[in-house]
Amino acid sequence: MGLTDSASVRDMDMPPTLLSESEIQSRVDELASEIDATYADTEMLVLIGVLKGSFIFLSDLARRLKVPHRVEFIAVSSYGAKESEHADPVRLLMDVRHGIDGEDVLLVEDIVDTGHTLAYLKRLFAAHEPNSVRTCTLLHKPDRTEQEVPIDFLGFTIPDVWVVGYGLDYAERHRTLPYIGELPPEMR
Ligand code: 5GP
Repeated sequence: MGLTDSASVRDMDMPPTLLSESEIQSRVDELASEIDATYADTEMLVLIGVLKGSFIFLSDLARRLKVPHRVEFIAVSSYGAKESEHADPVRLLMDVRHGIDGEDVLLVEDIVDTGHTLAYLKRLFAAHEPNSVRTCTLLHKPDRTEQEVPIDFLGFTIPDVWVVGYGLDYAERHRTLPYIGELPPEMR
């Protein structure tokens, strides 16, 4: 197989674009301005990124913020179908390193799907008695909502499709694409 052939095989492997790199970048600019305006009087904002999906969004967002901030990460996993009778469908795998009592906290998610993860995290962090807890997500699929949770800063509303790229994966693939693609069932 020649070079051209292998390049076209690779292209066929690329998920079709839902949101282009430039659309994402300009929306992240706008989100950073909204967040700066909301926290204009805050001495130190605590950004908490939810691993792994939010790591690219959070790093782009954080580098645009003018408000002083520190970055924390947490990791969660969803319970599988077998454990679905469990009261909480989400489990904390890694907690923040430093306490957040009295702090202004902004939870940064890649995508809100059913809403269970964000609802769980809001409850979890509210119990630590921070000064405030707000939520920021790049993507939201309202058609999939099972649990309503307020989103204070939202990038894009998208239809009920599986998306990859810009931090989001499918079985660890496509995470570092610079755009957000829609992964059709035949590509899974
Ligand atoms: P929720 O608890 O809102 O149902 O799910 C949130 C998590 O599900 C996200 O943080 C993400 O890990 C995963 N998720 C939901 N929809 C998608 C999607 O379209 N693509 C990817 N890559 N992950 C998704």
